[in-house]
Amino acid sequence: MSQPDLPIIEPFRIKSVEPIRMTTREERERHVAEAEGNLFRIPAKNVLIDLLTDSGTGAMSSAQWGAVLRGDESYAGSPSYERFEQSVHELFGFEHVIPTHQGRAAEHILFQTLGGPGLVFPNNTHFDTTRANIESTGAAALDLPCAESADTRSTFPFKGNMDLDALEGLLEREKGNVPLVMMTVTNNGAGGQAVAIDNLRAVRAICDSHGVPLFIDACRFAENAWLVKQRDPAWAEKDVREIVRATFEVADGCTMSAKKDGLANIGGFLAVRDRDLARELRQRLVVTEGFPTYGGMSGRDLEAVAQGLTEVIEEDYLAYRQASIAYVCDRLDERGIPVVLPAGGHAIFLDAARFLPHVPWSKFPGQALAIELYLEGGIRSCEIGSLMMGRKDEDGNELPAAHELVRLAIPRRTYTQSHMDYLIAIIERVWQRRSEIGGVEITFEPPVLRHFGASFRSVPAAQPEVSGRT
Ligand SMILES: *Cc1c(COP(=O)(O)O)cnc(C)c1O
Repeated sequence: MSQPDLPIIEPFRIKSVEPIRMTTREERERHVAEAEGNLFRIPAKNVLIDLLTDSGTGAMSSAQWGAVLRGDESYAGSPSYERFEQSVHELFGFEHVIPTHQGRAAEHILFQTLGGPGLVFPNNTHFDTTRANIESTGAAALDLPCAESADTRSTFPFKGNMDLDALEGLLEREKGNVPLVMMTVTNNGAGGQAVAIDNLRAVRAICDSHGVPLFIDACRFAENAWLVKQRDPAWAEKDVREIVRATFEVADGCTMSAKKDGLANIGGFLAVRDRDLARELRQRLVVTEGFPTYGGMSGRDLEAVAQGLTEVIEEDYLAYRQASIAYVCDRLDERGIPVVLPAGGHAIFLDAARFLPHVPWSKFPGQALAIELYLEGGIRSCEIGSLMMGRKDEDGNELPAAHELVRLAIPRRTYTQSHMDYLIAIIERVWQRRSEIGGVEITFEPPVLRHFGASFRSVPAAQPEVSGRT
């Protein structure tokens, strides 16, 4: 479906359509003003192409909609659970499958069971809900990404990897305080970057030498398997199902959001090998989610995920998805527009620090750029920079994030290649007038997760301030 010398085409045809609405520049200016510069506050009906997230925003197939009708809503022992359980078991190999309403519910149950004050959970990079669920137990969440991930221009193929020396050092130092090591595939927090099978195996070996279990945050397992097939010659001839098996055979369990590579709009699960741990997790499940054969899901959701898991590993689909994302990334790169390289599995990341070098980090260049993409073409994206990830020191002074990025997350099977061409054209227009674009200042800030609720005012370009970044 994405042969090198032919245009990229979607490996599906469209059975049901949903109109999207063009707005005028004047309307969009009003929408931004009414939202006080916060794109989360813009009603979705006023967005033309919504790239805020790839989570739960994908299109289901006709086979999934058919399965939805088959959904059995029995409280206990539903055949929909049996199909769900079997689908997860076949693909991932774990004996015990525990359905949850989404990924963070799986994390909640896992870390409520294994977390606690004084404990440390390392990860290649924790996703924000994983970090929040660990920290809420009093434990520490530690990111140990490989060195290459710090350089947005490095084309190292596996920038999602774990820093093995750092992990070894940590397990040595914190003996007895690390209940498990986690690996997130693909590494969402580090730009949807791929994790190599060799790196996973090396992490497993380190875990073994310290007697610590390994869990995988599996949200984008199929996209990771496809990137492994593309980028690691040792796996080029293997099929995706085999690469998925190799990914999970090193793990003792996984958490999963089915809103990503489950190709569903809601759902998730926790899966483990150990029977006693499974029993303990299920005891928590009945308190907060539901009976173990539905967890937090309806029978019809279980069916949609069971079917979605069989579709997401189809190579035509994965080849098209990756080609389409790499297409946008490469076209922008060719035009000199700063993007994070190489292309990740679910999103394109603009490097706002290099896109708007005259806007210091304290004036949130990522947020300023995201607003411009909406004003120019009705595209909604998400800042991942000092607004979302910035921290404060003990005196309350702002500290910058490692990068100032704008994420364009691509919902699965939802937009077409012509939408991608439109996206490139809009970004290019903003690039042409980048020197006129100023930053933003926060006028209101909620105490936690400020990017969701903050308000902004724009500040003109070329303010005489020096960036603290080196
Ligand atoms: C989305 C996501 C989660 C949380 O899943 P939800 O379904 O949104 O609760 C956890 N980890 C990663 C890597 C994710 O991308």
